[in-house]
Amino acid sequence: MQLTISGALKWASSQLEGISDSASLDAEVMLLHVINKPRSYLYTWPDRSLEPEQVFEFKQMLAKRLRGNPIAHIVGEREFWSLPFRVNPTTLIPRPDTEILVETALNLPLAENAKVLDLGTGTGAIALSLAHERNEWQVCAIDKVEDAVALAKVNRANLKLEQVDVFQSDWFDAVECYDFNLIVSNPPYIDEEDEHLSQGDVRFEPQSALTAPLKGFADLFHIAESARDYLAPGGYLLLEHGYQQAIELREKLIELGYENVATVRDFGSNDRCTLG
Ligand code: GLN
Repeated sequence: MQLTISGALKWASSQLEGISDSASLDAEVMLLHVINKPRSYLYTWPDRSLEPEQVFEFKQMLAKRLRGNPIAHIVGEREFWSLPFRVNPTTLIPRPDTEILVETALNLPLAENAKVLDLGTGTGAIALSLAHERNEWQVCAIDKVEDAVALAKVNRANLKLEQVDVFQSDWFDAVECYDFNLIVSNPPYIDEEDEHLSQGDVRFEPQSALTAPLKGFADLFHIAESARDYLAPGGYLLLEHGYQQAIELREKLIELGYENVATVRDFGSNDRCTLG
């Protein structure tokens, strides 16, 4: 099939209409991946024909998207904090909502050589973004899933942030340092019964990265409880959570002895992370 750039975009967008709520953006992202050019190329050369192999690859990608696969899995990449992260089905796909956690961490009054721990790092998005902004911070990142640790190491290498220590640990089990100035985490926090788990991209992400018992609070509470033993005096705990979990999490943090407990909203004005 002879397809031009604009023809391919129009065709794919119309197929995706009703299946994806970002149909034309999805088409663009897939086509750019296939032709390996900057976005401006799509508008500068709309009438250029695609090579037969490019048409073939584009059709395969489109078929995956039509089956519901997340665009990040199809192209193998997702941008977070303006950095490119490799992604695969072994971890959560980094969300823009989580950028508020990175921004909050960067605004804390921490020393130049602060020690920072990211629990359940997945792709490494939080830890590597922090290390990218603060070269002197000593950042550690753990995940209990071996494949996630491997993926975070790939991202660490791609982003040339070899100073970040990435290793396998079930929350704090293999952590041997006890004086972190900041512990951050975006743990699984969705209620196992939540109906949004059967819709959209989450269907293709690991349950272990999304859901937790106790209406989603089990890991948040476990981390909050254990973190007290791993924080330096005056250290901070910063947790991402669901938009309806802020009040209960704040109460828990206060009960556990955290001070100056406060919730930060994301760019969509939802309660998104809580600091203590
Ligand atoms: N915020 C994500 C969602 O609702 C979930 C992230 C997480 O479980 N840590 O899809």
